[in-house]
Amino acid sequence: MHLKKLEMHGFKSFADKTEIEFKDGITGIVGPNGSGKSNIADAVRWVLGEQSVKNLRGNKMEDVIFSGTEKRRAVGYAEVTIVFDNKDLKIPIEYSEVAVTRRMFRSGESEYYINKNSCRLKDIRELFMDTGVGKEGYSIIGQGRVDEILSTKPEDRRNIFEEASGIVKFKMRKEESEKKLDKTEGNILRINDIITELE
Ligand code: ATP
Repeated sequence: MHLKKLEMHGFKSFADKTEIEFKDGITGIVGPNGSGKSNIADAVRWVLGEQSVKNLRGNKMEDVIFSGTEKRRAVGYAEVTIVFDNKDLKIPIEYSEVAVTRRMFRSGESEYYINKNSCRLKDIRELFMDTGVGKEGYSIIGQGRVDEILSTKPEDRRNIFEEASGIVKFKMRKEESEKKLDKTEGNILRINDIITELE
């Protein structure tokens, strides 16, 4: 699995449709201060479902939509697509290429797509769980994150190792099953009460 392409349209400083292709090996992005390098990393986070405005370096979610310049009007929506090569099927879906798209309008609603099929954010989260790619994944190391990882509490550091070892999916399923069990136990108690009342 590797990142093949990123397409941005109306996202932050990228008013026009912009495509960045990532070939094999290392890709470096260089440019003067304020030219939009960090906006590219923000686009990757955002398309994978980032909901925290702070992590996207804005004040409100609308700040991800191109807000216009002296010479150019603002646009109505932002759209980002990230394309992964999935020939090794590391992303658990039967496609050799996986494209995830997020589109957001000024009203605040986001639409998500996997290979152009409309889906929920939850589907994207589940698809990338344990691949290291998700918005919390260890594959995006932001500025200052290295220090944070080294100085953070052992329990927080443990999350990174759990994602790398591929057990997050099972932990989530266990939590969901435990919730269902609790609910079922509650229901059994209530039914027993009713039975006792009827007897
Ligand atoms: P540095 O090297 O200083 O970290 P950078 O290349 O990483 O800079 P970014 O922080 O990615 O730069 O880009 C900042 C630029 O993006 C600013 O010029 C800012 O005006 C522009 N920008 C951010 N959000 C929007 C938006 N919604 N609409 C238009 N421009 C935006």
